[in-house]
Amino acid sequence: MAELPLYDPPKVGGDILAYCSKCQGEFSHVVVSMVDRKPARVQCKMCKGNHNFKRIGDSRARSVSRSSTPSGAPRKQIVLAQDYWQQQMDLQKGKPLKPYSPKQTFQKQDVINHVTFGVGIIEEVRIDKKIVVIFRSGEKILVHGIG
Ligand SMILES: [Zn+2]
Repeated sequence: MAELPLYDPPKVGGDILAYCSKCQGEFSHVVVSMVDRKPARVQCKMCKGNHNFKRIGDSRARSVSRSSTPSGAPRKQIVLAQDYWQQQMDLQKGKPLKPYSPKQTFQKQDVINHVTFGVGIIEEVRIDKKIVVIFRSGEKILVHGIG
C-alpha cells in the first residue's frame, strides 16, 4: 500500500499548506483558485480569510519592498516665492506704497506695506473681503475693507 501524501497535488477545493498573515504562520488552507497549476487564492481554515497563496519565504521578500513609501521631496517654495515677488515688484515699480490696514480697501496690484510681512503686491481681491498678497516670504491671505 502506497502511503498517502500529506497533501494532494493542489486543486481547487483541496487542502494546501500556506502562509496566513493574519494567523502569522503556515496553516492548512483550502485552494480557492488556481493559475498555471499553482494555487492563486486560498482560504485559511483558521480565520476563514481569503488571500493570495504564499509561503513564508515569499512573504518576507514582499514585505520589504512594500514598506518603502514613495516620497517625493517637497520642493522649496521660498526661493520661488522670492523670485515671483521680485518680478511683481518690478512690474509695479513707481507705485505708491500703501500702509496695510484691515480697514482700508485695496485694489488688485496695489503695493502695500505690512507691519509684519513687509512690502507686498495684491494679486487677487476676493469677494469675501479677503486679499491675496504676494510677500517676499510667500503668499498670504489678508482681510481688508472691514470696520
Ligand atoms: Zn488565517
